[in-house]
Amino acid sequence: MVRVRRGGYWNKIGLVNLSSKSVKYLEFNEPLYEKYIGGVGLGAKLLIDNTSPRIEPLSSENLLIFSIGPVEGLILPSAARMAAVFKSPLTGFFGESLCGGYIGTELARAGLDALVVKGTSADPVYLLVEDGGVEIKDASHLWGLDTYTTEKELWSELGEVMTASIGPAGENLVRFACIVHGLYMHEKKKLRGGFFGRTGGGAVMGSKKLKAIAIRGNYKIEPVDDGKFIEFRERVVRLAREKLQTLTKYGTSAIMALTNSTGSLPTRYYEGGSFSGYEKIGPEIFNKLYVKKKITCFACPVACGRHSETSGGLEMEGPEYETLFALGPLTYIDELEAILRANDLANRLG
Ligand code: SF4
Repeated sequence: MVRVRRGGYWNKIGLVNLSSKSVKYLEFNEPLYEKYIGGVGLGAKLLIDNTSPRIEPLSSENLLIFSIGPVEGLILPSAARMAAVFKSPLTGFFGESLCGGYIGTELARAGLDALVVKGTSADPVYLLVEDGGVEIKDASHLWGLDTYTTEKELWSELGEVMTASIGPAGENLVRFACIVHGLYMHEKKKLRGGFFGRTGGGAVMGSKKLKAIAIRGNYKIEPVDDGKFIEFRERVVRLAREKLQTLTKYGTSAIMALTNSTGSLPTRYYEGGSFSGYEKIGPEIFNKLYVKKKITCFACPVACGRHSETSGGLEMEGPEYETLFALGPLTYIDELEAILRANDLANRLG
């Protein structure tokens, strides 16, 4: 019989020690979850309680925590978010990053509230999460691959799974390396993947020789009170449709119009706040020339992601606002085609 979760949490956290190659499971009482609500709250509590502030971010003492909140897995706009929490190798301070797509929902459906990774493996490994359990698997055949190829290999090995992996950037401990979810899934199904893009989680993952996590969820997530939940969801969907129309129409590239007009578009390495080449890379031209399809995270009507294609036929997810400004105005580049190609490369390298 399929297990069903009603009400916020499974009360189960997977604790993986890569040094000793062991897995334990922790249980907490409800007040902890209520006090430190959401993926970031839970992750922050676990990090602070289980590390010392003085640890080196790329040492085996650092933790890499993937955690989700109480509405993850419910059919609700913008609820599809998984947090990665760790001490940041980029800032030396608390590091967190949030990823959309489908991976958080999959963790909820796999029967865990969080996955805590400590220690360092001697050889490359990946984690398989399914049916409330975690297995440590050999990943020596995946080490050196880019994020797209890693996911493709995992799908051919395991069937359809939601993955988060590092590419050469994370393996080589680049301090701003990302953890990438769903490039291959995007290609196969035209769904929105996502990125743990901020504060260098990819380098922490690389320092642990953890190439990927692969999650398959077989359980169901349902609300405690169907009637109240449906009423609440209808309100949220109505508000999202009303207030976020521009995001639906143009994707996150719409944010460029706002920041450029208010003088806050990062330009020429923060020397300026608006860009002379804006018209050549802005949301209108991007959507007109390159966007092929709107894509969305689990259960979200906003669909702010984009599937795009260069004139040479290179198809990809994105680019998002952050990529557009960082590879455009920030570096003083006004060629959209070049930005798209660099976006694809960055996605794959992690
Ligand atoms: S589609 Fe956009 S608005 Fe909806 S959950 Fe994903 S990132 Fe958020």
